[in-house]
Amino acid sequence: MRVVLLGPPASGKGTQGRALARHTQQTYLSTGALLREAVENQTEIGQTAEPILQRGEYVSDPLMCSILADWLQRNDSEKGWVLDGFPRTMPQAQFLDNWLGERQLRLHAAISLDVPFEELLSRVSGRVECPVCRWSGQRSDLTRSNRCPQCDGPAHSRKDDDPENFRSRYQEYERFTVPVVTYYREEGILIKVSASAPKPAVTKEILRQITQPTS
Ligand code: ADP
Repeated sequence: MRVVLLGPPASGKGTQGRALARHTQQTYLSTGALLREAVENQTEIGQTAEPILQRGEYVSDPLMCSILADWLQRNDSEKGWVLDGFPRTMPQAQFLDNWLGERQLRLHAAISLDVPFEELLSRVSGRVECPVCRWSGQRSDLTRSNRCPQCDGPAHSRKDDDPENFRSRYQEYERFTVPVVTYYREEGILIKVSASAPKPAVTKEILRQITQPTS
């Protein structure tokens, strides 16, 4: 099963993507986490991406598509995958269609997570990420000594999680990613999930819808 996750910043793509991949034994990729790691390691990709992430803009399509081509070549298998954060633009969706088409494969579903704007804004202000295992969640999820609940690493807020940067990312989402949501709806593979409920309930709803045939 090959699946992509769409949704505005802080809608829970990371949390739900990891939970879904765990349940179905798919391989999981967060393009945002991959870019942040590249920035931290100051690789060539990281140096290109750093100022773009700081402005809350999207990284260019050619760079993202080449990152994905490389990742897919190394990670695509019968088990399938969950892509969190790709495609975010129509050229990226086109790239993925071509990649799959050339291999006689298809996308099983595109899951779109819906959360009201005000709630996204409040989630962003409490969000933390672990630089060791890339777990992401709310400050209230941390251990009593403020460490990552998954690996005990030094989880902290993301540099790009201030309200101004969030607004910019949200605008990018509306401009470039909403057309991708529409595209997958027209293709008949869109699964829309309200993601305001508690995390396990959202996971359950995704699993319920994903095992049903789409119309
Ligand atoms: P969020 O969903 O909260 O914005 P992510 O971790 O998914 O966080 O992404 C962080 C940033 O990484 C995005 O705002 C964007 O700048 C960059 N990014 C990730 N994936 C892509 C992509 N497919 N195309 C362009 N930019 C991307």
